[in-house]
Amino acid sequence: MAKGSFKCSKCDRSFKMAAHLARHMNTIHASPQKKAAAKRKAAAKKKRNVKKVKPVKKAKRKAVGRPTGIAARLKLRDLSIEQLTELMEAARAEARRKLAALRASIG
Ligand SMILES: [Zn+2]
Repeated sequence: MAKGSFKCSKCDRSFKMAAHLARHMNTIHASPQKKAAAKRKAAAKKKRNVKKVKPVKKAKRKAVGRPTGIAARLKLRDLSIEQLTELMEAARAEARRKLAALRASIG
């Protein structure tokens, strides 16, 4: 009689896989609140997915693949990994120094 080893505690159905039992519990025996929450979640996901397919602005698409702004001005592309690492360390130290100065000026 038993189809699988994962038996439902609320009815006499059973499943071969735990995930199937979990899905059964969530869809057949879930509380009305839980069902509503799942529905909201699904609706929210749908909304997000709709947003995702929104086309990227032309200007933004053009910029992909080449450095713009500060990266372009500093010619970061011409630097080696070692130079970039050194630059990052220096930038981090400089940022720390500026932050400390800012904190000191605030009091
Ligand atoms: Zn059941």
